[in-house]
Amino acid sequence: MTEMLKGIAASDGVAVAKAYLLVQPDLSFETVSVTDTNAEEARLDAALAASQDELSLIREKAVGSLGEEAAAVFDAHLMVLADPEMIGQIKETIRAKEVNAEAALTEVTDMFITIFEGMEDNPYMQERAADIRDVTKRVLANLLGKKLPNPASIDEESIVIANDLTPSDTAQLDKKFVKAFVTNIGGRTSHSAIMARTLEIAAVLGTNNVTEVVKNGDVVAVNGITGQVIVNPSDDQVAEFKAAGEAYAKQKAEWALLKDAETVTADGKHFELAANIGTPKDVQGVNDNGAEAVGLYRTEFLYMDSQDFPTEDEQYQAYKEVLEGMNGKPVVVRTMDIGGDKELPYFDLPKEMNPFLGFRALRISISETGDAMFRTQIRALLRASVHGHLRIMFPMVALLKEFRAAKAVFDEEKAKLQAEGIPVADNIEVGIMIEIPAAAMLADQFAKEVDFFSIGTNDLIQYTMAADRMNEQVSYLYQPYNPSILRLINNVVKAAHAEGKWAGMCGEMAGDQKAVPLLVGIGLDEFSMSATSVLRTRSLMKKLDTKKMEELAQRALTECSTMEEVLELEKEYVDVD
Ligand code: PEP
Ligand code: MG
Repeated sequence: MTEMLKGIAASDGVAVAKAYLLVQPDLSFETVSVTDTNAEEARLDAALAASQDELSLIREKAVGSLGEEAAAVFDAHLMVLADPEMIGQIKETIRAKEVNAEAALTEVTDMFITIFEGMEDNPYMQERAADIRDVTKRVLANLLGKKLPNPASIDEESIVIANDLTPSDTAQLDKKFVKAFVTNIGGRTSHSAIMARTLEIAAVLGTNNVTEVVKNGDVVAVNGITGQVIVNPSDDQVAEFKAAGEAYAKQKAEWALLKDAETVTADGKHFELAANIGTPKDVQGVNDNGAEAVGLYRTEFLYMDSQDFPTEDEQYQAYKEVLEGMNGKPVVVRTMDIGGDKELPYFDLPKEMNPFLGFRALRISISETGDAMFRTQIRALLRASVHGHLRIMFPMVALLKEFRAAKAVFDEEKAKLQAEGIPVADNIEVGIMIEIPAAAMLADQFAKEVDFFSIGTNDLIQYTMAADRMNEQVSYLYQPYNPSILRLINNVVKAAHAEGKWAGMCGEMAGDQKAVPLLVGIGLDEFSMSATSVLRTRSLMKKLDTKKMEELAQRALTECSTMEEVLELEKEYVDVD
């Protein structure tokens, strides 16, 4: 029987093939009292060793299919397996409670998972919880003498159907045979979605019940662009999906031709197309997608991925790696943007009523509390500056006084390093993010003192609309095309140009295909987005005529009163889907 499902479009691509259900074995067990606790500890050790062997093999396979960087997730798993604190506690529980290894393992790992998952504002710790859950399942299966399903054994074209796919499941998928996967749970930013995009396997996640609807061997049609899934499709539907798949493959092949092309409009105007990164590992994707620069390196992940404040040397290594990886192309490094939704477990900041409006980002850096931390980061950046083309920017600037305080630290640390005989590049540009309306309004004054602006629309829109970006109830107020937002952006770009400075954008809006024509018309100089949006944006820009886009922008800024009117007007000028 034909059934239609709708989920979250998580990884582009279209496929029709037979279903392979990735069903987990029953891992239930009884808690039993034991007298020979040594024997239980030995069982645990054997299960840990077996799990280690399995994971090492999976890692090896993942290196082959995904590359060293993507396989790093298994290093995290192997680290969980070797974590002396956790293993010590499991053994302690066996001895103290005289229970079987299965019960002790589950009790201790559940405790860690609960603590980490409770840190709702901390995606890093939540990922650690997912790692522990993944590893525990493997150890438990080994204790129970069961085998986890083996997606690596798939040897015909298939669509993998699962409740959720763990990173180790995903890494075992051979893209020669696995054409897509569909899950009950998960979203666009979940681990499995990110890996699917790396592997370029189509994926639809969060369908709620695909595992109940699909049986092994059913034919499944998946569209990872629209999120549509059809179980046992008709011949017409199969033909429709296949045509959509071919159209997408053709489009991708066309985009790929633009990898080394210049980013120019139809009338020959160049725009800088850059990519956003969170770690040095992301540089590979930046280059693979032909980005011309890194427009935003969110350095707070360096702090969040660490157990303590990263040292000057650790930071220097990370910045050097990015600068060298970009081979002389510009890299905008943003100083740490902690606070708001990004907490550091080891940095004890007071709980606040309104964290997004509170003590965060540059406000911490230029305070007494954050001074040492900020100077360490600036020194590391200055030292790394000789390895490439460095641009530094400060987040969350509201007042000129704040920029001047930060710039003073930059100047002081630069002078100190030079006095110590340590080389520092002399062409480092120092700019600010424009993400607070006060700075957007006063951009003409800021432009006299900064080298560049980068507009952070994720926050600029939240602060302009007074709508928390994490709150679903008010998400309708996230309106990048609203004339109020366009006017602020226009104000910033014009102010920069009046002082001979450049203005870029690193918020999500920069890669939004409906926003690009308007931003081209406004005259934004640099667009920074997720690496996977770069080629599609380059392709779109090639079709735009700047004169026409200028007219569109001008009319949107002066004639339109709502977002809907702006989008209607845009249709008169350009066809974007
Ligand atoms: C922004 O606010 O638009 C931005 C790019 O920074 P973040 O999303 O890290 O706050
Ligand atoms: Mg921001």
